[in-house]
Amino acid sequence: MNGTENRCPLCGGRKTAGTTTFSADLGSGVVVVRRVRATICDQCGEEWIDDQTARQLEKVVDEARARRAQIEVTAFG
Ligand SMILES: [Zn+2]
Repeated sequence: MNGTENRCPLCGGRKTAGTTTFSADLGSGVVVVRRVRATICDQCGEEWIDDQTARQLEKVVDEARARRAQIEVTAFG
C-alpha cells in the first residue's frame, strides 16, 4: 500500500472507509444489501468493495437467485 492508493484514481480525492448500499438486478428479481463496507471517495463518491466483501455479496446474490426472490433486501453487520 503506497500513498497513491489512498487517492481516488478518478478525481484524486481522498478515499475513506464507509458503508454503501449494494444492489444487483438478477433479471427475475432485485437484490439490495445495505450497510456494505466500502471505501468511498470523499470527493466524487466512487465506491470500492474489497474482495472478501464482494464474495459475501456474491453469495447473497446466488442465494436470492436460487430462491427466485423477486425482491431481496438484507443488510450486513
Ligand atoms: Zn473521486
